[in-house]
Amino acid sequence: MVKKAGYEPRVEAREYWEGLKESKLRIQQCQSCERYVFYPREFCPHDFGKLEYTEVSGRAKVLAHTIVEKTAHPAYAAHTPFVMAVVQLEEGPTMMTHILDIAPEEVRTNLEVEITFNHSYDLEDPLPMFRPVNR
Ligand SMILES: [Zn+2]
Repeated sequence: MVKKAGYEPRVEAREYWEGLKESKLRIQQCQSCERYVFYPREFCPHDFGKLEYTEVSGRAKVLAHTIVEKTAHPAYAAHTPFVMAVVQLEEGPTMMTHILDIAPEEVRTNLEVEITFNHSYDLEDPLPMFRPVNR
């Protein structure tokens, strides 16, 4: 088990991390302009509106990716090579993640993916990762 560095999440990020523990992706949505926001923030970056958490679809597409061949991170070293990607959620925001359940060389821009919490990374706090849709 890889322990985190001993810090607590900032207040505005707690609900995000609690959601992941329940295998739910919850991100913030602005109560004024209705845009979704990720990473967690104190107020909407578009119009300074109030943000509330809501569960989102977990569907996304790959915007950019790379294959990681070597890493010193103990939680990831056993999983190389793996795909690091920036995905765009159906709701708009982007997030950095791993793409699982596909040969790394088969990952393409615009690949449709969905969130998965079913992975073998040995992490103290779960992280959202993505896998291809319909595979
Ligand atoms: Zn807003």
